[in-house]
Amino acid sequence: KKIVYSGIQPSGSLTIGNYIGALKNFIALQDEYNCLYCIVDMHAITVAQEPKELRENTLDVLALYLAAGLDPKKSIIYIQSHVPAHAELGWVLNTMTGLGQLQRMTQFKDKAKKYTDVQAGLLNYPVLMAADILLYQASYVPVGEDQRQHIEITRDLAQRFNSRYSETFTIPEILTPKVGARIMSLKDPSSKMSKSDSNKDAFILILDSEEDTRKKIKRAVTDSSGEFRYSDEQAGLKNLINIHASFSGMSPEEIVKKYENIGYREFKEDLGEVVVEGLRPLRERFKEIRDDKAYLESVYKEGAEKASYLANKTLRKVYKKVGFIPK
Ligand code: ATP
Ligand code: MG
Repeated sequence: KKIVYSGIQPSGSLTIGNYIGALKNFIALQDEYNCLYCIVDMHAITVAQEPKELRENTLDVLALYLAAGLDPKKSIIYIQSHVPAHAELGWVLNTMTGLGQLQRMTQFKDKAKKYTDVQAGLLNYPVLMAADILLYQASYVPVGEDQRQHIEITRDLAQRFNSRYSETFTIPEILTPKVGARIMSLKDPSSKMSKSDSNKDAFILILDSEEDTRKKIKRAVTDSSGEFRYSDEQAGLKNLINIHASFSGMSPEEIVKKYENIGYREFKEDLGEVVVEGLRPLRERFKEIRDDKAYLESVYKEGAEKASYLANKTLRKVYKKVGFIPK
């Protein structure tokens, strides 16, 4: 079986963008592939995190993984900082990555604008991400469209290492969903929905109340044209149609047909129901799982053990090839 790898940062509570772009697709891949799903806490600290919140968010993400349907009997589910090999391979890859290439990354440029205090860790984010993926010889990486550039760097690094030394890493490919690979902010449809957005109306959290979910959709920006079309000129509406399509399974064309003579207001009301219904089972399961500390601990401990075994196999090869003396 080929290997699938992905992760989500516990940098806040997860949004429906994280769900549609990533988490939902993790579930579908579990039967066909050997999957590893990580909670990437080391990535989260590339911007300032409150320690107490980071701990809470990490367990929240784990409980959401499980509530959404990830099965620890099928997939390896673990916390990044529990497997030191990520940092170790990350260091080696850092010595092979051009500074210019990192400075050109969109995520770095966007976040560097948003935070006044920018640290080297934020610049090196894609290198750690490359280490995450390459350690496990992953063939596929299910992520949102915003991560495409980072997958490109990962492929570059794998190829560079393989040709400088010898065949070591599998070259991974990105997997993005057909609809919803880039869910936009509800308040500014020109920027992506992000869990770290300071405006809470810009995103819907998986764990928002039903009331807040409906309210945020009602207040989402559309436009004043009044026309019901699926087009880039109507980015706000297009985004809402994509969200509908992701939850209802309808195609954007079917949605346009259904609502073109009805209007935005009723569409938004229906969309509120579609999202609320779509998230209900997950929201219900979450509470129960999140309260079971012993179960969560058993999942991440077992996951770290399995992941460490696989990661260390790759790391040992890498260390040997670069010329480190085995201990
Ligand atoms: P942050 O603002 O802290 O970076 P984030 O919402 O971007 O948070 P990440 O942890 O960086 O979340 O990304 C987790 C996964 O969710 C990645 O696969 C990413 O591509 C995907 N993702 C994030 N935002 C969106 C979005 N708006 N639409 C689709 N997928 C998304
Ligand atoms: Mg992000």
